[in-house]
Amino acid sequence: MKKVGIIRCQQTEDLCPGTKDFAFAAQGKGAFEALGACEVMGFVSCGGCPGKRAVARAQMLRERGAEAVVLASCITKGTPLGFPCPNKGLMLRAIRAKLGEDFPVLEYTHPSAAEIKAAEEAAGQACG
Ligand code: SF4
Repeated sequence: MKKVGIIRCQQTEDLCPGTKDFAFAAQGKGAFEALGACEVMGFVSCGGCPGKRAVARAQMLRERGAEAVVLASCITKGTPLGFPCPNKGLMLRAIRAKLGEDFPVLEYTHPSAAEIKAAEEAAGQACG
């Protein structure tokens, strides 16, 4: 089982305890399909806007055993508010530059509610 470290948006900490992030990691679903079932070995925030601290925190997660770092869906998909981080691209590029292009950095944890609904509707149409 791979060990992953998750970085979340500090602005949404008081709206979400990360329940889906842990569940999707444990079940190897969502972005974790690329790795299989995963153990979350660390769950930290970006450190607050503008997100520069996420780079050092990603490095810390790797030093403490993470085999992949994951930006949570609150950052890249804007869950649960539909408000993605305006700095998500910068954050991803800076983390990848720091950790090296060979180190896995996943860009989300789970689909947004809108994506789940669309998939369910598509599945319903396919069955109907
Ligand atoms: S930098 Fe982005 S991810 Fe971090 S607190 Fe601000 S909006 Fe959230």
